[in-house]
Amino acid sequence: VADELREIRDLPAITKDGYRLPLWVNTGLSADVARSLKQGAEGIGLYRTEIPFMIRDSFPSEQEQIESYRAQLEAFAPRPVTMRTLDIGGDKALPYFPIEEENPSLGWRGIRVTLDHPEIFMVQVRAMLRASEGLNNLRIMLPMVTSTSEVEEALRQIDRACTELQEEGYQVKKPPVGVMIEVPAAVYQTRRFARLVDFISVGSNDLTQYLLAVDRNNPRVAGLYASYHPAVLKALDFIVHEAHKERKQVSICGEIAADPGGALLLMAMGYDVLSVNANNLPKIKFAIRNVSFSRARQLLLSVRALHDAEEIHQELRQSLKAFG
Ligand code: PEP
Ligand code: MG
Repeated sequence: VADELREIRDLPAITKDGYRLPLWVNTGLSADVARSLKQGAEGIGLYRTEIPFMIRDSFPSEQEQIESYRAQLEAFAPRPVTMRTLDIGGDKALPYFPIEEENPSLGWRGIRVTLDHPEIFMVQVRAMLRASEGLNNLRIMLPMVTSTSEVEEALRQIDRACTELQEEGYQVKKPPVGVMIEVPAAVYQTRRFARLVDFISVGSNDLTQYLLAVDRNNPRVAGLYASYHPAVLKALDFIVHEAHKERKQVSICGEIAADPGGALLLMAMGYDVLSVNANNLPKIKFAIRNVSFSRARQLLLSVRALHDAEEIHQELRQSLKAFG
């Protein structure tokens, strides 16, 4: 199998009946870049910018951020690099910015923090824009969005950063901006968000946590964290449908895309891009290359008729075996 995976490294993810699905990667550490390029990644669907923030002992300056961002943008150019604005709080802590809360998952996290601290947000967005000067492969993505007002405010700030930099003489242009769908309230506003932004990306790790009311990191309830819960799949289906009504690209960067069975279902639902960890990319490509789109569609139809996460999981396992 290892040999087979190596052989397809430079081949596209294309089904037996010719359906092509772009496979991108999730990155954070600088080492992820080389690993991703080696696996034939066609873009970065999620660069977790909080990781370079986490491995330091104070907020990095604009100049320091430019250096980390430029490395990712340059290594991947002309392929797209989707940078998520700082997503701290919840399960992601910065040692020098402690947040003490009773209920951190429902508290101050993601876009909520950066909108309350425009100085942190502006420095980061300026660094992203300056890092992309002359490359034009930057995309900016907003985490943990719940309301349109948050999207509008973030867009205003990104616009302001662009104008400021242009006035300062930098050759920057406004990048595509997208929102993550991670909160149940956001699911039902997908179409509205899609009108405001250039792309939608589903953070299925958080979305699963919030739909099922199951902490993604609590071992006591880990058995209840079911990525294939029918409610999760229904939400994933709905999101694509709504975003496509506005003709916007929909990608997914949660772990469900990194599971071969999940990847086939997402492809069949119509996801335009799957973004996975570099280590999982070869097996996802292998799964796609070994199935026809019509078989994947049939699999989705049979899964939609099931009402239990475990049954769905089993159906996926059996089908994958049958596909080889
Ligand atoms: C997610 O929530 O699915 C996601 C991709 O973001 P993170 O895992 O970094 O919260
Ligand atoms: Mg998330």
